[in-house]
Amino acid sequence: MKPSLVHCFKLLLLLALGGVTMHVPDEDVLSSLGALHLDGHFSFHDVSAMARDFGNQCSSLPAAVLHPGSVSDIATTVRHVFSLGESSALTVAARGHGHSLMGQSQAAGGIVVRMESLRGDRLQVHHGMSPFVDAPGGELWINVLRETLKHGLAPKSWTDYLHLTVGGTLSNAGVSGQAFRHGPQVSNVNQLEIVTGRGDAVTCSPEDNSDLFYAALGGLGQFGIITRARIALEPAPKMVRWIRVLYSDFASFAEDQEMLIMAENTFDYIEGFVIINRTGILNNWRTSFKPQDPVQASHFQSDGKVLYCLELTKNFNSDSIDIMEQEVSALLSRLRFIRSTLFHTDVTYLEFLDRVHTSEVKLRAQGLWEVPHPWLNLLIPRSSIHKFAKEVFGKILKDSNNGPILLYPVNKSKWNNRTSVVIPDEEIFYLVGFLSSAPSHSGHGSVEHAMNLNNQIVEFCEEADIGMKQYLAPYTTQKQWKAHFGARWETFERRKHTYDPLAILAPGQRIFPKAS
Ligand code: FAD
Repeated sequence: MKPSLVHCFKLLLLLALGGVTMHVPDEDVLSSLGALHLDGHFSFHDVSAMARDFGNQCSSLPAAVLHPGSVSDIATTVRHVFSLGESSALTVAARGHGHSLMGQSQAAGGIVVRMESLRGDRLQVHHGMSPFVDAPGGELWINVLRETLKHGLAPKSWTDYLHLTVGGTLSNAGVSGQAFRHGPQVSNVNQLEIVTGRGDAVTCSPEDNSDLFYAALGGLGQFGIITRARIALEPAPKMVRWIRVLYSDFASFAEDQEMLIMAENTFDYIEGFVIINRTGILNNWRTSFKPQDPVQASHFQSDGKVLYCLELTKNFNSDSIDIMEQEVSALLSRLRFIRSTLFHTDVTYLEFLDRVHTSEVKLRAQGLWEVPHPWLNLLIPRSSIHKFAKEVFGKILKDSNNGPILLYPVNKSKWNNRTSVVIPDEEIFYLVGFLSSAPSHSGHGSVEHAMNLNNQIVEFCEEADIGMKQYLAPYTTQKQWKAHFGARWETFERRKHTYDPLAILAPGQRIFPKAS
């Protein structure tokens, strides 16, 4: 590392922080990184891309970016940082695809490990009675899907958007409309390979090193860097029937969702979303949905009412269309949606799972993707969901908001309580996601407006004591995190002390400040 580069970096850092001082590693520390023997390499300049994320509200420049050429590069780097001891403030953040909302994959003045550098041709699909794929931690789920489909197989549990990394979603939970049946993505992993905060590369599973295995699942990157995950697979369908129906009454919508997730023979994917005071309701964020009766669909107006859209799919292959249609009709006949609002379309499994990317391409073309995203994701116990809906939809949220509002139930029995994920203490709970974009600097489309509404919703939950937990929580103090973990804080803290005692990893989560 040339000294001039170090000075340049320090200047940039101070400029970016608007004069706010912060710890910058000294030249010796940066030089020592440059001297490590690696298969990949460090960058000490052009690091600004690693100071951005999808949330677009938080930016901290790292001192260096590691582009690992191997798992051993990550272990060597973390071991080196560990060897600097308590007096060093240097931290290490694994960065998946940088789709965090509030700087969780950033490391101010530290090292960002660009996990995507470890992608490539290392996806290995294994057939047999219980098929699985071994995927690098920095691999995008869309690539896992494409590769496994070549073998007629696919993972069981998904997120709505697939341009996220394996290690990134497994560090949170990974929830979508399949979770009611298979559990979240963290419930569908057989084995992990992890580099701990001491720089040890460890293989772990429910049988071996199980404490680390469960700690890392939903562990917010606190215990180790996931370099490989063994993900359970199932036979993949070729096609899905993708259905949307509308309700004007929340109680019927929620009861039908709950009935469907508990039924034996049911849909393969069940989600829902809330539509507030919006006309042209099918013309929303998820524009990849093209119903077979577009005239009827585009004519349906919500007339300013709050509507609830149930979104369902049923998998099928060309030789099972008749059976699928019979099953779908039987299931739909049990639901209480507005009969004129049945919209459906048939798409390939890949098209369905990659549906949000279709919207991404359109939003990018309009300059509406790389805007701030003041999202709020809540887990609400079933016993409070009616109270929550009554207060939030139509009272706190009166106008259409800039982005979808997801609302669907999942069942706790499919979540392993040994993982680090925090969920409400009830058998059925709802994921409610307010996925706002803030394209303007003031008014309705601003960050300020969205944050104000988010705060009102959170305050209501706290005052009404409804047992809400945040998902992808943006807490900034240990006090808030302790309240979030509740009785599970002790285990979380003990695991941190065991696997990352110097608090080197994932500083952007702001749970354990590094001593210096
Ligand atoms: P990053 O944001 O880069 O990292 C997330 C955290 O994990 C950071 O703390 C980072 O340090 C740590 N980390 C990253 N890689 C590793 C690793 N290999 N080992 C250990 N720690 C690591 N989530 C859902 O559950 N369901 C959804 O349906 C869903 N839909 C989404 C749709 C969109 C458009 C977006 C932007 C996000 C969505 N998410 C969803 C949220 C998603 O799970 C998070 O953004 C998550 O952070 C994954 O993003 P990433 O892979 O880019 O990880």
